[in-house]
Amino acid sequence: MLAGLDPEQRSAVTAPAGPVCILAGAGTGKTRAVTSRIAHRALTGQVSPGHVLAVTFTARAAAEMRSRLTVLGVTGVQARTFHAAALRQVRYFAPRLLQGRAMPELLDSKVRLVTLAAARAGLRTDRAAARDLAGEIEWAKSSLVEPGEYVVAAAKALRETPHEPAKVAEVFVAYERLKRANGVIDFEDMLRAAVWGIEEHPDVAEQVRAQYRHFVVDEYQDVNPLQQRLLEAWLGGRDDLTVVGDASQTIYSFTGATSAYLIDFPRRHRNATVVRLVRDYRSTPQVVGLANAVISQARGTEARLRLELRGQRPPGPEPELRIFTDEPAEAAAVAARCRALVAGGTPAREIAVLFRTNAQSEAYEKALTEAEVPYVVQGAERFFERVEVRQAMVALRAATRAIPGETPLRDAVVEGLSAVGWAPDAAPAGGAARERWEALAALVQLAEEYAATPPVLPIGEAAAVERPVTLADFNEELARRAAAQHVPTVEGVTLASLHSAKGLEWDAVFLVGLSEGTLPTSYARTPDQVEEERRLLYVGITRAREWLWLSYAVARSPGGRARRPSRFLPQLDRSGGGTERAGAAAVARRAERRRPQVVSCRICGATLLAGPDRKLGRCPTCPSDIDQDLYERLREWRARVAGAQKVPAYVVFTD
Ligand code: ATP
Ligand code: MG
Repeated sequence: MLAGLDPEQRSAVTAPAGPVCILAGAGTGKTRAVTSRIAHRALTGQVSPGHVLAVTFTARAAAEMRSRLTVLGVTGVQARTFHAAALRQVRYFAPRLLQGRAMPELLDSKVRLVTLAAARAGLRTDRAAARDLAGEIEWAKSSLVEPGEYVVAAAKALRETPHEPAKVAEVFVAYERLKRANGVIDFEDMLRAAVWGIEEHPDVAEQVRAQYRHFVVDEYQDVNPLQQRLLEAWLGGRDDLTVVGDASQTIYSFTGATSAYLIDFPRRHRNATVVRLVRDYRSTPQVVGLANAVISQARGTEARLRLELRGQRPPGPEPELRIFTDEPAEAAAVAARCRALVAGGTPAREIAVLFRTNAQSEAYEKALTEAEVPYVVQGAERFFERVEVRQAMVALRAATRAIPGETPLRDAVVEGLSAVGWAPDAAPAGGAARERWEALAALVQLAEEYAATPPVLPIGEAAAVERPVTLADFNEELARRAAAQHVPTVEGVTLASLHSAKGLEWDAVFLVGLSEGTLPTSYARTPDQVEEERRLLYVGITRAREWLWLSYAVARSPGGRARRPSRFLPQLDRSGGGTERAGAAAVARRAERRRPQVVSCRICGATLLAGPDRKLGRCPTCPSDIDQDLYERLREWRARVAGAQKVPAYVVFTD
């Protein structure tokens, strides 16, 4: 087992009982080292597997750890998420601590009670606003902030609060009361109950501590104060604890996670064995070069700990940056490439498409379905299985009776969605609420696309093509797409959000939607929030073993408003550290060359995008002698969006 490890990893694996801290970048073998440490200690008789509690942050990571241990010949280790470990403990001790009373029911969402609590505090909230408030209460509770301390704490943490802080605090108080009155608890209460059980009941503490003797926390950079408190309760002053993390991968600070515990670990545990790893075993030097380029420009506390990764693998294919006219074109190209990779022998399960928000998933689900590439959506339901999307579809079907047939499709859909509380200009600030808003915005976008490309009708009905599409047509289209997506796939290309991709790796990774407003998301306003977005990009890049594709689409839908490329893209040129500097620099130079320039027509004022490698003679709105092929394509788009208010034209930069 030790043979497959480098000297630094080996020192972490063989360190004596006591605190161990592995601080290292992505792909350096932290998870491998920590799993090997458990196995090594178990197989040499230093610990019994049943006494080890290994905590991670996702169920998939916990399962991954159990399977790695099984391969190493060790079974019986408890590898769980914080939530699962706490829930197990609370359930086990509930009969004793509650003296026969029933265990309160666990709320799977705060939203309903928060809506009631907001009403008590005199706030009228739709579901989106309630979700923002719920997110804020989750942050406070995970940060051990009591309702009475909220106003001061929120100011100190520079929170962008969904309402005036005093009002949020009022909702928080009302929510806690309602919860008690209804005899229910939320997830944070459950963690608190686990802490309370230990801190207030010596017999429980004794039993828990006899069971758990050796602790491991993977992805420790994303621990929040409440989870840390629980960890300390389990430890009860003991220090046989191994923590592993990378401050550059903290991506949950919006819910209270902080890398401070990781960073301070060596100071808090003076006797700790501290191991730093820099060899990257996961990715090609080109991918490592891009990862170094992104993170070398990070600001903030984690910068102190940053270590440049050194690629260990032989060079592979050059990472690609691609720019598309619109999202459907981007998704179609990604699907085509996935198909080609699969045809070339890469198993579909070794491919991932990663995006910033779950709402982006739909375009890829559709494109992969059309390309007949199997896929699985990770950590979220498929687009058409999401509750809000199903509710919206019901509302749209109901709306066909009320909305006149000649209403433009987009307006009809927006009006139909108002029935489920959605409004185009009311994008909530963040968290859960934002995802819902975006999922429904994706429906409006679908409607725009659908209106721009009327369905191909069977011969004989050709005359009907001229008729504008109606809401009823669109509902049929949605039903058709939803049905197409229900084809169950056992194994396929992973579609996942960047958040849920943490700790995982694939041969080929597509990072899509790299435009301003998406990554970084438009609700990242403070410098700290932008830094978290940069770390997300770093997490995304470092998931790739071989192939890495970065892309963005100029417009959401064909003919839509132009967006700028992500501010992080031009930064990819300052590469360093990957053994193949030249590779990364070349990608960055290409990126720079392909960056579109925004130009406006001197005659009609239309917005145009041009790049130095494509000559744009004159505006296509005013016919001219520009490149014939390009002109045809522009004309085609114009025809498709005829009737729309804004008629921008775009130059194709890709292929
Ligand atoms: P992340 O920060 O993304 O969680 P990590 O540091 O936990 O990454 P691992 O997942 O443990 O990294 O390892 C990355 C890849 O490198 C895995 O495929 C692992 O098997 C491989 N690897 C780790 N250490 C070595 C080694 N010493 N020799 C060869 N391969 C290794
Ligand atoms: Mg890991």
